[in-house]
Amino acid sequence: MKNRYKQGKAASAEILRLLLQKMAAHPAAFNPVTYALWYEYITGINSPLSKTMNELLADGQLLTDETVYELYQRHIADGNLDAEQAFKQNMQKVLLNLTRLTEVTGDEAGKFNEGLQKHGEKLAREMDSDMLKSLVGEIAQDTKVMRSSVESLQGKLHESKSEIGRLQEELLNARSEALNDPLTGIFNRRGLEVQMRNLFANPEMQGKYISFLMLDIDFFKKINDGYGHLFGDKVIRVVAEVLKAQVKGQDSVARLGGEEFAVILPDTPQKGAFAVAEHIRQVIEKAKIRRLDKDESVGGVTISIGIAGCQVGADWLATIGNADAALYISKQQGRNRSTIYAPEKAG
Ligand code: GH3
Ligand code: MG
Ligand code: MG
Repeated sequence: MKNRYKQGKAASAEILRLLLQKMAAHPAAFNPVTYALWYEYITGINSPLSKTMNELLADGQLLTDETVYELYQRHIADGNLDAEQAFKQNMQKVLLNLTRLTEVTGDEAGKFNEGLQKHGEKLAREMDSDMLKSLVGEIAQDTKVMRSSVESLQGKLHESKSEIGRLQEELLNARSEALNDPLTGIFNRRGLEVQMRNLFANPEMQGKYISFLMLDIDFFKKINDGYGHLFGDKVIRVVAEVLKAQVKGQDSVARLGGEEFAVILPDTPQKGAFAVAEHIRQVIEKAKIRRLDKDESVGGVTISIGIAGCQVGADWLATIGNADAALYISKQQGRNRSTIYAPEKAG
C-alpha cells in the first residue's frame, strides 16, 4: 500500500495540535484508530470520510469508541481502494466504447462512400426522368442513414466527454493531497497552482494583468515563544480570515506554509494591488486577538507584504518569486509595510 500521508514533520505537528483539541471534545479513547480518523478528517485526504464526519458533527453527535471503530472500518480499512487504479479501469471502459462506436460509424461511412460512387457512375449514363427520380430517392435515403449514424456518434462523444470530466473530478477529489490547508480552510500551495492553471486557461482572462501579494507575519517566532503554539495557530487563522474578508470575487487566497500567505488579484494593476495590500496590512495592525484560555487580547501583530504582477500567460512562478523579493525588502526596511517589486532594487 502506498503511504497516504504526505505531510512532513512541521505540517503534521500542526495537525497533531488541531487533532488533540478535536479528540478531547469527544468521548472516544485517544488510541491510534481515533487518531487515524481525525488525521484523515483534518487533512481532508479522505473525502467520503469527511462527508460522513461532517454530517455527524453538524448533527451535534459525539464520537464514541464504537462510532470511531465503525467509521474506521468503513472509510479507512476497507474503503482504501486505490483511486488511480479505479480511474484507469473506468477510462479503459470509456475508450473501448468509443472505439466500437467509431468502428461502426467507419463502416457506415465506407458504405456511404461506395454508394456515392455508384450514384455518380449512374449519373454519367443516359437516364430518363423516372430513373433520375429514383436515383435522387436513393441518394436521399443513403444520406439519411449516414446522418443518423453521425448524429448518434456525436451524441455518444458528448456523453463520453461528460463521463471523462466526471472521472477526472473524482480522481482529483480522491487524490491524497487536498487543495485546502487544514488549519485555515483556504487554498494550500497545490490549490494555488490549480487556481492559476484555471485562470490562465480562462478565455476571458487572456491579455489581462494579474497581481500577486506575498505576505509573511512579522516576528512570528516571538509570538509562538511568548504565547504558545496554539495561540500562534490562532494568529495564522485570524490573518487568513482577514485576507478572505478583504478580497473580492475572483481573487483567491492561499497559505503557502508556516506563516506565509499569497493573494492572487486577477485583472488588477499594481497600483490597485498596492491599495489592497495596504488595507490588509492596516486591518491586521489594528486587530486584537483574544488569547485562548485567558481573558486577554494581544495586539501589535503585523505583516510584511511584497507585490508583483505579470500578463496572463507569462511565467507566474517567476512573478511570485519577484513578489517574494519585494517582501524581503519590506522586511529589511523595518517590516509592517508593503513594497512593489522593482527589478533594479532586487539583489
Ligand atoms: P520575520 O519577521 O523575519 O518573518 O520573523 P519570523 O520570526 O516570523 O520568521 P521565521 O520565518 O524565522 O519564523 C517563522 C516561525 O513560524 C518558525 C516556526 O516555528 C513558526 N511556524 C511555522 N509554521 C507554524 C504553524 O503552523 N504554527 C505555528 N504556531 N508556528 C509555526
Ligand atoms: Mg516566514
Ligand atoms: Mg515571519
